[in-house]
Amino acid sequence: MSLALYRKYRPSVFADVIGQEHVTVPLSNALESGRTHHAYLFSGPRGCGKTSSARIMARSLNCVNGPTPNPCGECQSCKDLVANGPGSLDVIELDAATHGLVDDARDLRDKAFFAPVQSRYKIYIIDEAHQLGPGAANALLKVVEEPPPHVIFIFATTEPDKLIATIRSRTHHYPFRLVPPGILAAHLEKICNLEGVSVAKGVIPLVVRASGGSVRDALSVLGQLLAGAGKDGVSYEIAIQLLGFTDGALLDDAIDAIAAHDGATLFKTIDRVIESGHDPRRFTSDMLERIRDLMIVDALKDSASNAILRDIPDDQMERMRNQANRIGTANLSRAADIAAEGLTQMRGATAPRLMLELICGRILLPIGDNGESGMLSRIERLERAENIAPMSSAAVSSPARTAEPKETTGSAHATGEINSSKVEEAPTPVKEKESAPAHVPGNFDIAALRRAWPDVIEDVKKRRRLTWSLLSASAQVLAVDDKAITIGIVNAGARDSFVRSESDEILRKAFVDVVGIDRKIECVVDPSIDTNTPAARETRTSEAPTDKTLLTGAALLAQELGAKIIESK
Ligand SMILES: [Zn+2]
Repeated sequence: MSLALYRKYRPSVFADVIGQEHVTVPLSNALESGRTHHAYLFSGPRGCGKTSSARIMARSLNCVNGPTPNPCGECQSCKDLVANGPGSLDVIELDAATHGLVDDARDLRDKAFFAPVQSRYKIYIIDEAHQLGPGAANALLKVVEEPPPHVIFIFATTEPDKLIATIRSRTHHYPFRLVPPGILAAHLEKICNLEGVSVAKGVIPLVVRASGGSVRDALSVLGQLLAGAGKDGVSYEIAIQLLGFTDGALLDDAIDAIAAHDGATLFKTIDRVIESGHDPRRFTSDMLERIRDLMIVDALKDSASNAILRDIPDDQMERMRNQANRIGTANLSRAADIAAEGLTQMRGATAPRLMLELICGRILLPIGDNGESGMLSRIERLERAENIAPMSSAAVSSPARTAEPKETTGSAHATGEINSSKVEEAPTPVKEKESAPAHVPGNFDIAALRRAWPDVIEDVKKRRRLTWSLLSASAQVLAVDDKAITIGIVNAGARDSFVRSESDEILRKAFVDVVGIDRKIECVVDPSIDTNTPAARETRTSEAPTDKTLLTGAALLAQELGAKIIESK
């Protein structure tokens, strides 16, 4: 392959420019009717055909039969100005990025007044026109304001707003756009046919997505794929590897894990993403796109989503329908928010892998804090307040208070009432808990610590969000003794971040504050943890301490209540 695809398939007439009909049709009409102008401005994103169109415009203007939208292709000018041709003395291309100097502009101004060598018009194509310095722009302005009849300017720029207004106002402005995926895909398929290389289903959409709507980028990527094609053409796997794209299987694994609230698998998948050399940012971006696709599938169901996501193979479509059903509308929307926000934060982040893990951790967090789990955690807070305070008559006489939440079980407002009643009675234990570590030595077994965990996490969140993010979805209490509390974190990456960021000190303080015991924090990797399955939550909340003397009357009642709520599920 000697010639890059984007050069090889560069158009020589407006009819072959793809995806810019809003520009090429009126330009062709102007050429047809002879209503041409002396200065044009072609603006738009890179790689969308601005420079190619400027050359086509020059060719159309200078054809012996011109101005015409259908240059003859036979005359000297047409031959000179064909794509990849030798060029014409009368069509002068300047790159303002390198010709931004005043002297060059003055030179251009002086030469512009000489008649064209052999063509109808002397045409200046000024690329990256926004980079013209003020001096150069002013030197040009004279010619643009009062051009000799044989001079035509075509300015091309990605940033039309930066072109000085006095020049811009004298141009006819044609905004180019990114090429829509369907049109770009059809174009790429045509080129694959012309090149005689077959590509597997799913490859073209990958190229289209990688290009972001730029024809030049798309052809550059496609050229690389075709160059590496085997006897059977370009396979999907090869495309994935060459493009550094997220393997669909990895993406499916991640989404499936989210659907199952399976933190262990999700973080293992991130491990695989990193190990196979994928860019965490790219993976996050792909994950966001997938969530978007799932939202479409979720909203439109069968046929309609087929029409919109028509480049997705049938089996993949089926898998996505399944995923959308399992995750549900509200969770999809929430996951999209989290992923989009995370992607923004990832720009310039020094630890993109950590960010990816945090994003996934947040997505896994149970939605909201209402319902039974919220109720249980509030009851536990009550219980804990009693645990921390020394056994007192207030604690023993608590049935009247705990009866209140029982009556109002299941109502969101009721949980608020419990909360407020807790707040009223809280001051005494809160004040005492500062000195609690000295007074309550080693009274907590692991079940009590696990029940306290959600509130410890809440307390951590107030202290430092990073620590909270590392713990909230992927950690739990493994062991406790006289010296230390051992925390298991689901993967090595999060564990290492935990240690490096000295999050152990944050967590230690949170334990002191919430449950009133002061222990060193040990942190180990425990990939078997799945803290988010309903079963795990249930175990955590219903596990009774082995030593019932630890429980106050209020705690016993609260635990009974919790068990009833679980039963009534
Ligand atoms: Zn011609």
